[in-house]
Amino acid sequence: MSMKHIFGFFGCLFHPGECRRTKKLLYEYVEGELNQDTQHKLEKHLADCPTCLDYVKSYRTIIELTHHHALADTPIPPALKQKLREFIEQNPELK
Ligand SMILES: [Zn+2]
Repeated sequence: MSMKHIFGFFGCLFHPGECRRTKKLLYEYVEGELNQDTQHKLEKHLADCPTCLDYVKSYRTIIELTHHHALADTPIPPALKQKLREFIEQNPELK
């Protein structure tokens, strides 16, 4: 674990509101639906908070995979479905 991760971890403890807000806005952020001001604030938080950054990365990967599969008109592979389910279970606020 790097120093940045440790600081990020404490950052999340000290600013839980920011992290919660980031998670709430995640969908809009990944879909590019945030206004510039909100997006800027969110990106500023992501630069300071590796925990949220990791969260965005895994979320974006899942979104991209599901989009890709939706476009290709093929069913989502069971392994991906399982991963998605685990991700949502770990983050109940996404439900
Ligand atoms: Zn955070």
